Amino acid sequence: MKRICILGSTGSIGTQTLDIVREYSDDLKVISLSASGSVDRMEAQIREFEPKMVCMFKEDAADELRKRVADTDTKVLCGMDGLIELCEDDEVDMVVTAVVGMIGIRPTIAAIKAGKDIALANKETLVCAGHIIMPLAEKMGIKILPVDSEHSAIFQSMQGFPKKSVEKILLTASGGPFRGRKREELVDITWREALKHPNWTMGRKITIDSSTLVNKGLEVIEAKWLFGVEPDRIQVVLQPQSIIHSAVQYVDGGIIAQLGTPDMKLPIQYALFYPDRRPMKEERVDLFKLGQIIFEKPDMDTFLGLKLAYRAIDEGGSMPTVLNAANEKAVALFLDDKIHFLDIYDIIEESMNRHEKIEAPTVEQILEAEADCYEFIASKWSS
Ligand code: MG
Repeated sequence: MKRICILGSTGSIGTQTLDIVREYSDDLKVISLSASGSVDRMEAQIREFEPKMVCMFKEDAADELRKRVADTDTKVLCGMDGLIELCEDDEVDMVVTAVVGMIGIRPTIAAIKAGKDIALANKETLVCAGHIIMPLAEKMGIKILPVDSEHSAIFQSMQGFPKKSVEKILLTASGGPFRGRKREELVDITWREALKHPNWTMGRKITIDSSTLVNKGLEVIEAKWLFGVEPDRIQVVLQPQSIIHSAVQYVDGGIIAQLGTPDMKLPIQYALFYPDRRPMKEERVDLFKLGQIIFEKPDMDTFLGLKLAYRAIDEGGSMPTVLNAANEKAVALFLDDKIHFLDIYDIIEESMNRHEKIEAPTVEQILEAEADCYEFIASKWSS
């Protein structure tokens, strides 16, 4: 029996993780859950999974939830202290970090220090703090199991092969809904169009990030940390059908890839049961129906997300934090109809240009860089 804590249990990855728990209730037990403010959903999850503890990040949501579940045995915590308490709990074996944003960093560090394996779905953890997380995980001897479909595919493609034989990583991307368009065709894009991803059903922020290729840029940074491969050996390949989830090319020229339907359930389940592979009822890839697999080079001059990310990782230090923070704010402004699609790139670039890089930032400095970036964007674009 594996006892798990899910941070971000009401989101897209969180609810799909719970689908797997439901299916494998003899092997997985939910000890704790967390959410930002979705009281209704958390109440339903408490009644179904009967966790020992939950944490609502927002205090008023925690107060409301406490009243609602007073008839249960579940303890309701709140804020960052609450998240950390969930992660340090002796009864937990593995923490699934599916929260969005920098708030994932501190709890993940706490969980690693407490010796828990991590099923990692929070991008910021490695993008901003990879230099802290990876050495710490190694020191503590814990596993960081990627949940993102691409990183899971790379991880799966590395099983049984020595790391030193990796020549390069082939990180696939669908290219998003605007693949093939030129810059002038992106000027009037609305967020409604950007939310129509051709293959994947995901949360709003990550869907916008897919359309700008910022998501792929963040994934390059994550891959560098997860697999210890420098960015010049991580090649992004467009594969519009999202069937090849990524691949690894070895020194002998052999390429090992992982294929599957565009469904997050496999990567989540693989992380939960690693190194086992458990049966899954979902749809299979029908190669005959697929007929052919198409590959394209990404247009880095139109979709600047990737270019900016390579720059951020190249400059290193606190720069990826600024890329991520600026993008987060810019996407929020875009979803709020305050800026145009292409402004997202301008906001990121300007934020990076003005930032004075810190070489190996502490968590404090990462959060300061984020706050400083937010302030700059608020003063310039928010009104
Ligand atoms: Mg991905």
